[in-house]
Amino acid sequence: MAVANINLPRILRVGGGASGELAQTLAELGLSGPLFITDPFLVQCGYLEALEQQLTEARLEYGVFADCVPDPTTDSVEAALHVLRAGNYDCLVALGGGSSLDTAKAVAVLAVNGGAMRDHKVPARPDSGLPVIAIPTTAGTGSEVTRVAVITDTQTQEKMLCMGLGLMPVAALVDYELTLSMPYRLTADTGIDSLCHAMEAFVSRKSNAFTDSIALTAMHSIYTNIRTACAEPDNRAAREAMMLAATQGGIAFANASVTLIHGMSRPIGAAFHVPHGLSNAMLLPEVTAWSVAESTARYARCAHAMGVCDAADPDSVASDKLVVALRQLTRDLGVPGPAEYGIDKSAWFGALEVMAQQALDSGSPANNPRIPDKDEIIALYERVW
Ligand code: NAD
Repeated sequence: MAVANINLPRILRVGGGASGELAQTLAELGLSGPLFITDPFLVQCGYLEALEQQLTEARLEYGVFADCVPDPTTDSVEAALHVLRAGNYDCLVALGGGSSLDTAKAVAVLAVNGGAMRDHKVPARPDSGLPVIAIPTTAGTGSEVTRVAVITDTQTQEKMLCMGLGLMPVAALVDYELTLSMPYRLTADTGIDSLCHAMEAFVSRKSNAFTDSIALTAMHSIYTNIRTACAEPDNRAAREAMMLAATQGGIAFANASVTLIHGMSRPIGAAFHVPHGLSNAMLLPEVTAWSVAESTARYARCAHAMGVCDAADPDSVASDKLVVALRQLTRDLGVPGPAEYGIDKSAWFGALEVMAQQALDSGSPANNPRIPDKDEIIALYERVW
């Protein structure tokens, strides 16, 4: 087996109350002038204030940019960069879902390397950036532990995949208590995003022994807790399990890669502004059904990890049961199809060529067990409709 190259943040604090250790984390890293990067909701619900209080008590000066938008754009990243450049900051503290975290990571790279964000998209490898301390509030994208950011180009509407060590947070404070406020739809969609990370990492052509064990653990936790976390938002055990699994899913995919689901999902988000987790959820059962025959042994192990097959099932039976279980899961969680979501049929079919090309250009489909050509991706989008 080839050597696995694993990248992780220098500091990971995981557990209820971890965000209460921000001041201590900054001190450990020798940082003293943070700019918070967050969004209006996280200000309104008091999460930012609790962090500000810690810094005030530690006599640290800080700034705040609170205008992150869902699915960050080159314009919103530029606005944050402007605030950074106007002050005297030595690091960024990202508070929020993947959108706030990716905004901070993009700003970190632009602050050090200059240029425009499109200069840093794949296949470029931005390897330096300002330190970012990531505090995720969804469970989730795993962005707190990945050297990845996804930024939409305002000019072309492309959801650009950017990858490089400069995008890796130096520290992540993974505090499930910040997810107790997530409503049903956000819990379901971000949870399925994490499930996709774990499953895609495990079946990826770039999977390795290190990411395999983490991916299987994450799949088990997500599959057994996601319904409870959605139905009982205050269930701390379910929230804790989902948060840990989201971070594990992030570690798994960032060190193995995502595959066809994410490759096809980004263009849907860019073209129709479907939240990222939801576009993954729309694709998960059909893309898995299309892929299983090429790697029944790996998909069967996913089925065993999630507990959706019998121990004695042959791989072909177990992998078929996986597809059935994923269809049931997305039904149970009320995942709408594109039409039900409100997307116009002619707009969907009119966009298929461009979406399929963007999916291929991201490189992710080439890591899938069954590698699609453009026509097969178009046919899959048609099937998902
Ligand atoms: P998000 O950050 O876009 O947030 C969605 C909404 O949820 C926002 O309105 C936000 O205010 C709200 N929210 C966040 N935390 C909340 C909480 N605790 N309670 C209630 N509301 C809350 O959502 P996301 O799914 O976490 O992030 C999606 C983005 O992350 C996409 O742009 C996607 O492409 C990107 N992504 C990045 C990576 C990576 O490795 N960098 C991986 C997967 C996805």
